Amino acid sequence: MIKKHQNNVKSSSPGNLKFITDASLARLAKWLRILGYDTAVFTREAGREMLRQAEAEDRIVLTRRGDMIERQFACTLFLITDVIVGKQLDAVIKKFYLKIERENMFGICLECNQKLQPVKREEVRDLVPQFVFENCVQYNQCSSCHRIYWMGTHPRNVLKFMERHIPNHLP
Ligand SMILES: [Zn+2]
Repeated sequence: MIKKHQNNVKSSSPGNLKFITDASLARLAKWLRILGYDTAVFTREAGREMLRQAEAEDRIVLTRRGDMIERQFACTLFLITDVIVGKQLDAVIKKFYLKIERENMFGICLECNQKLQPVKREEVRDLVPQFVFENCVQYNQCSSCHRIYWMGTHPRNVLKFMERHIPNHLP
């Protein structure tokens, strides 16, 4: 299932691993972004072009396409066999020894995979719901789509999902 993999890696953090998924794994990609891992989604038909992007950007390929492992290329490729996103995430975490740490979570835009930047509270007054503005002090913004994120946007649902699907990897 694996083409090439560094066997000496015992634990991987967001600084040294990047992924690219095919379009059918877009939900898995969002979860990897939540955990802090730079994950591109290849939205066109998975094939040679996706592998070229993976090579150029040094990304690990995550795909559901069995025929992809037949192809010649220089990157690591991991075939995802499960259809349930929680199990897909669990498989990737185990395969690549992903480290999950709170300080790395929620730092990437779920929509465009860009790093979020802190933004001042007074700058978001008209951009977030009133109750959020009143209750939250810290905000981050995506420099690409300008979406605003605040603590409370996801964390409770995220933790529930993690407790259910990846209980052995909680931060
Ligand atoms: Zn964005």
